[in-house]
Amino acid sequence: MNSNDFNSFGLKQSVIKGIKEMGFVTPSPIQAQAIPIILEGHDLTAQAQTGTGKTAAFAIPILHSLEKNGSVEALVITPTRELAMQISDEIFKLGKFLKIRTMCVYGGQSIRRQCELLESKPQVLVATPGRLLDHLKNERISNFSPKIVVLDESDEMLDMGFLDDVEEIFSYLPEARQTLLFSATMPHQIKRLAQKILRFPKQIKIASSNITNEDITQKCYVVNEGHRDEAIIRLLDMLCPVKSIVFTSTKREADALSHRLSQARYKTGALHGDMDQRARMDSVRAFKSGKISVLVATDVAARGLDISDVSHVFNYHIPLNPESYVHRIGRTGRAGKKGVAITLITPLEFKEIKKIQEEVKYSLEIEEIPSYEESHNQIVQKILQTRIVDDAMGIYTDLMDKSDETNGVLKLISFVLQNQAGQKIGPSQQEINRLKKEEQRDKRGLEQSKSQYSYFRPSRRKNTGRLSSGRR
Ligand code: AMP
Repeated sequence: MNSNDFNSFGLKQSVIKGIKEMGFVTPSPIQAQAIPIILEGHDLTAQAQTGTGKTAAFAIPILHSLEKNGSVEALVITPTRELAMQISDEIFKLGKFLKIRTMCVYGGQSIRRQCELLESKPQVLVATPGRLLDHLKNERISNFSPKIVVLDESDEMLDMGFLDDVEEIFSYLPEARQTLLFSATMPHQIKRLAQKILRFPKQIKIASSNITNEDITQKCYVVNEGHRDEAIIRLLDMLCPVKSIVFTSTKREADALSHRLSQARYKTGALHGDMDQRARMDSVRAFKSGKISVLVATDVAARGLDISDVSHVFNYHIPLNPESYVHRIGRTGRAGKKGVAITLITPLEFKEIKKIQEEVKYSLEIEEIPSYEESHNQIVQKILQTRIVDDAMGIYTDLMDKSDETNGVLKLISFVLQNQAGQKIGPSQQEINRLKKEEQRDKRGLEQSKSQYSYFRPSRRKNTGRLSSGRR
């Protein structure tokens, strides 16, 4: 069956209601293929990236199958705490009308607290391998007989060195179970694991043409080593992303860049494996709620995170391999929205970016880092465009009457008002005063900074082209 409608799966009405409540209308390809297979009780290997709707692909049949018999009926094993929380959250939301309990089990949280929560008899457990194994070895989970077990992001668990733990976990699981293995890639170690833990699995592979999303525009900017921070700041200034993730190679870089960006007045936070659990959760929550707009993250911490409305992804360094590149840029352009992925490269890295380009079959445009003036003007215009107050025209006329100045701020206000004719738009009186002061300060700063930043732009010639043409 290859369905275009969730109703045709024969799901319980309470599950259908949950799907509707989530706003899902049409099953995604992985859901259309996986849901019927899982409902029929088969084991499954599914090769699919995040962003394809794979969580719901296993969550929906799990919810349909729950009997609420007082035991843990389904277990999802996933590599990171953030993913565990995200999956648990999606299952909980989809199961809104079933009144089920889901629980997350991960390292970094007090064992005692987790034991208390386990007493509440959750039907679905979402766990990271290390802590789950610890609970199982110490017999802290009662009524544990999951009939459906999901291994999510299996290749990531392999990369993180969890495979031995995962195998050991299976020694505690009932023989009579249905096992579903999800992985973005299928290295031979994962295939071997699949042979050990799955029985006559059906296989699904979401075509690799889905790997890079057409909704994502991919570009790279050439910088000299040592100028990456400034390049990111200028691009953020210029592009004004609503929400962006900057990927760094190391934890230290993530901290340093996050600090640098907050000095540049960006609302930013870091996300990496050296942060304690609370700090990581705070960063993810703040980013999701919009409290911070730039998340500076390492691969592992951010992998698989489903955060909607990420408009831009930046690669501070070129990713280690094409796979990592695909994972990273997949944080944007989700659910049919447009996204931009930008990679900073040095002239020495052309070869590597070419490899990525060949792998993802996308010709990356090379662009020029904006000048200080360009990025600065963009910020001022953005501020003006987003300040909506009553009687903007009145304020403007009033100001022009009172002042014979023709400074930059008034010109900009005029520009914005003319371009937004008919809309209620313009800065408040207070804002105008602030901008006037800032304008003067920035003018002074600009003069001082011109020489400092000139290395980004050796000439005024527009330097665009495609890598394949060999131009820089
Ligand atoms: P995932 O691949 O599980 O990380 O899912 C990516 C995003 O797609 C999540 O925000 C899901 O809530 C959303 N999603 C999953 N299935 C559907 C669907 N059938 N229609 C629309 N959005 C969906």
